[in-house]
Amino acid sequence: MASGSCACHYISYTASNPPTCLVNCHCTTCRKQAGAPYQTWAFFATEDIQWHVNPTERRATNAATRSFCPKCGSTLSMIQHRDLSSIGIAAGTLDEGKTQIPLPSHHIFLDEKASWFELPKGDGAKKWDKWGEYDKL
Ligand SMILES: [Zn+2]
Ligand SMILES: [Zn+2]
Repeated sequence: MASGSCACHYISYTASNPPTCLVNCHCTTCRKQAGAPYQTWAFFATEDIQWHVNPTERRATNAATRSFCPKCGSTLSMIQHRDLSSIGIAAGTLDEGKTQIPLPSHHIFLDEKASWFELPKGDGAKKWDKWGEYDKL
């Protein structure tokens, strides 16, 4: 079981199973929303996530709806409209020590990567310019 919360703890959640994978997304929307070079998403089966208080949703693009804490602004989730069965949880909101979290397996949307950010060498994660074969994960 995994759990997590936003920075102010107003929004929290539990997950009945560990994440299936972690992905570092370098797309412009993730970069700006995170205020950081990329956003790490931990993917879970949507039905495995139980929100104790629902986060505020924002339809960021036609492709995805994101959510955040209305009190502190922390990014919480991202769900793709074409596959509602899987949800990306902002990995930095996960509580430490509750469950084994896998290392990120992919960097995606590297064609939108911040020019000032250099990818860590030897992190073992695959590098894809776009969404790539991510669909097949
Ligand atoms: Zn908060
Ligand atoms: Zn992204």
